[in-house]
Order: sequence, then C-alpha cells, then structure tokens
Amino acid sequence: MHGQMMRQPLLISSLIRHADTCHGDTEIVSRLTEGGMHRYTYHDAHQRSRQCARALQRLGVTAGDRVATLAWNNYRHFEIYYGTSGMGAICHTINPRLFPEQIAFIIKHAEDRVMLFDLTFLKLAEALRPLCPGVKHWVVLTDRAHLPAGDTPWLCYEELVAAESADYEWPDFDEETAASLCYTSGTTGNPKGVLYSHRSTVLHAYAINLPDVMGLTARDTALPVVPMFHVNAWGLPFAAAMTGTKLVLPGPGLDGASLCELFQQERVTFSAGVPTIWLGTLAYLRENKIRLPSPHRTIIGGAAASPALIHALESEQGIEVRCGWGMTETSPAGTVNTFKSKHAALSTAERDAVHAKQGRIIPGIELQITDDSGAVLARDGVAYGNLEVRGHWTCREYFKGAGGSVLRPGGWFPTGDVAAIDPDGYMRIVDRTKDIIKSGGEWISSIDLENQAIGHPAVAGAAVIGLAHEQWGERPLLVVVRRPGHPVTGEQLLDYLRPKVAKWWLPDAVVFTDAIPLTATGKIYKTKLRETYEGYFKSGPETP
Ligand code: ADP
Repeated sequence: MHGQMMRQPLLISSLIRHADTCHGDTEIVSRLTEGGMHRYTYHDAHQRSRQCARALQRLGVTAGDRVATLAWNNYRHFEIYYGTSGMGAICHTINPRLFPEQIAFIIKHAEDRVMLFDLTFLKLAEALRPLCPGVKHWVVLTDRAHLPAGDTPWLCYEELVAAESADYEWPDFDEETAASLCYTSGTTGNPKGVLYSHRSTVLHAYAINLPDVMGLTARDTALPVVPMFHVNAWGLPFAAAMTGTKLVLPGPGLDGASLCELFQQERVTFSAGVPTIWLGTLAYLRENKIRLPSPHRTIIGGAAASPALIHALESEQGIEVRCGWGMTETSPAGTVNTFKSKHAALSTAERDAVHAKQGRIIPGIELQITDDSGAVLARDGVAYGNLEVRGHWTCREYFKGAGGSVLRPGGWFPTGDVAAIDPDGYMRIVDRTKDIIKSGGEWISSIDLENQAIGHPAVAGAAVIGLAHEQWGERPLLVVVRRPGHPVTGEQLLDYLRPKVAKWWLPDAVVFTDAIPLTATGKIYKTKLRETYEGYFKSGPETP
C-alpha cells in the first residue's frame, strides 16, 4: 500500500521561489569583477533568474542543453545557477584555474551551447573561442559600459537580461532531471563530468542545513569562499536560499585583506573554504592585529586542516571550526565534524584528536572501508582501508560514461581515499591512495606528516611526498616553505618531528622552496611535486 502524501518533484526552482516569498528583503552582497560592491535581495535575484531563463531561451537554449560559466562568486553567477536549472537546462560551471587545453576539452565534451564569463576571463575566452565552435554564444557578465571594445562580437549579459520580463513560470518536470555539471580537476587523466540532478541538489541542501552539518539559518550571514565554479560552492547557493541566509559573495577578492574587509563590514557569521584560504587570511589577521566579529563558524574542507590551523582560528579568533570531507562526486558533503555531548568530558588532547578527524557521516550518506580484496573492515577507528561511499547525492557514473562503470559490488563508489571509521561514525582520512607512502610494506600518511611539520613556528607551508627508494620502495621527502625571517634548517625540522612521529616515518630529507604548487582546487599538487623531485633519493644532496 502506498502512502497518501502529495508527490511533488524536488526542484531547484522551489528554493529561489521560497527565498523570494519568505525572505524577499534578505540581501545578496557581491564584490564586482568590475570593481565596487553590488547589493540586491532574494526578491531581485528571483526576478533576474527568470529574466535570465528567458534570455537563454531567446539564445536558443532548451531543456537539457549545457550552459557554461567561467565566473567568480557573484550575483550574476547566482542567478545563472537558478535561471539555467530552473528552466530545465544544465549549468556547467568551469574551473578557470584548469589549463586552457583542459577547459577546451571540457567544453567540447560537455557540448556547451552558450558560454557566460566574467571580465577577468576575457583573455581565456578569446583563446577558447576558436577552439570551441560548438559554443554558439559568448556572453560577458557585465554591462554595456564595461563590454570589451574591438571586433569580437561579445554579447552583453546585462542587455540580454534587461530585454526580458520576469513574467515566467518555472516549469515542472521530473526531479531526476540533470541540473548542473562539474568536472573533477583531473590531476591525473582527463577531467570527468559529474552530473547533479534536481533531486540530489535539493536533498543535499536539506542535509547541509542540518544543525550538525553547516546549519545555515535566517539569522546567518554566509560568505562562501569556496568557488561557485567548483562543486557548486559546496551547495551553499542552494542551502542559503532554502534558509533565507544573507549571502556575501567575494568575487575575485580571495586574499586575506579582501576577505577580512567583508567579514568585518558585513558581520559574517559563517564561511566555508579550503585550508589554504585560511592560512593566508590568518597571516593577514595576525599582521594587522585584527579580531573578526563573532560568532563565526567556518567549514574547512577539500583538504586536511592541520591541528595548528584549527587551534589558531579557535584560540586567536574565537572561530568555531568544523572540518568536512567530500568530493565532486558526492556533491560534495560527506562528513562534517561537530562534537557529541559525551565529548565534553574528554581532556583537551582527546577532544583535539576527535576534532582533527574529517567528521561524522551525514545522514543520507553511508561510508565503509574495505581492504584490497574487497572485504569490509572494522569500524574501530584503528583499521584503515579504501573508503567507499553511497548516498542520495553520490554519483553513480560519470557524464557520457567516462571511465566506464565505476561502482563496486553493493553500489559503492570508490573514493580513492584511505580512511578509518570509528564506532561513533567519525571518519579520518589517512591519505589519498595515490599519495600514501609505501615504505618497506608499511604505509606512511603524508597528511599526518604535513600536519606535524606545519606545527613548527618557522614553517609557512609543508608538503610530504613519497619518492622511489632502492631499499624501501618509497621514502618520504618533506618540502617546506619557510616563514619570512625564520632561518630554520632541515636538521632542526627533523629534530622537531623526531619525538612526534614513528621512527620509520621520519622524512629522509627536507628541501626548501619558495612556494608549494597548488591544483586548480587549491590543494597541494603532489603529482607535480613528485615530478620535480623525481630521483631525489638516488642523486639528491643530503638534508641541509
Ligand atoms: P579534485 O580536487 O581532485 O578534483 P575534489 O575537489 O572532488 O577533487 O576533492 C576530493 C578529494 O579531496 C577527496 O577524495 C579527498 O582526497 C580530498 N579531501 C576532501 N576533503 C578532505 C579533508 N577534509 N581532509 C582530507 N582530504 C580531503
């Protein structure tokens, strides 16, 4: 017997409609690519999303078509999210930090029909245009006054939107309809597309709004530092509309000074981003002796946040830090770290150990760990193995079947991460499968070593990679960026690490560099580092 409740499709358009109806005067504040700030409301955003949908239709976009964006976090990108998906088209957000050849590959693979881009990416668009004949319209996200002069016939977003009325009813359709497309950064091999549905997006928004996840409210002011061009800014543009949270969109200004200005001026209570963003911001706050307004909670994910960073944000700024784990293939939220009441009785060191984990499994997601034969391992917090995930917002295959069938028996998606899960449901990432260092049949976690190294006061950045070694198979190399004015030596760093890590974990050498290369999503680019230092343990100098 079926239940007798209404069956309404879970559609993204319902979120912006709700925001307009119940939070019509709540603001969305954006730092503009053209310079200056822009302010409008959820009501305005709803109006313009519908105008945007009509403008896209006039350009020939129909349901199922892919509409590409190369844009920062700003109000125009926000309304394109809603305009495209609301009319049944697909918003394909492109990460501008990828190599141009990768971007051209992605555009062709996705068969994008229209490209909408911020002025910052004009040069990139000029380079891409001849390579991507399938894109019929190139639209600059600006007004007539800022439209680039010259012979290239760029369309002007503001003119297209202004020409349309907001008299448009969002259509109803199947909730399984595709809504947005995001490619993994493809640090190895070609990028692969993850195609989110309306259903997965709305369920993900409900889930991240749980109090123990991100828990946005109508009293919050949220600043997503995480870009809208990568995994839909972790779903925050949807979650914020659902809760009527004021949004502050930082545009291209992701440096410490620009972010702190917004944190202070807009009295931001919630932020989200990768650890590298906070490293830069923390340095700025320290130099300028700034204390941010409170309360402020921040979600740090995408890469492991070191205990030193978590501690500094909490003790120096009073920021509540919640670490989270996820991936493009999981929309991305999989786990977020908040305490249980029983943790209140723990010692500081014990609480720190819980806090350093990637967090508790979010309802709607399941995790398990397996060994290389596929056997499921114990959830005892000690055993670690291949992390597998399934859930309402986890992908089952890549766009156009790239990479073939990906799921493992039982419908589990292999994450490529190595992790442990404890009996309380907290997951701890040990490493990525391809980054873990296999030394003499044992595994060394590069993340754990980095977290220890970054705790040294002279270390501004640290990366650990495994390099080929004749006797041990692989051995760790520690790559360090020194803090300006702190002339620490490699031997001093190894002395610092010696009491903190198992003897055989100690890196074989330390090298210093000016900057650690980062991937398009702001993570340590370990493939590049391994190339740079390849053969080091065969020919390299001793640790200085
Ligand atoms: P990529 O940047 O490689 O395209 P994603 O942005 O989807 O991919 O990143 C997913 C990966 O990032 C995860 O599989 C995991 O290795 C890593 N990751 C995400 N969050 C964390 C975290 N909190 N701690 C450690 N690693 C993380």
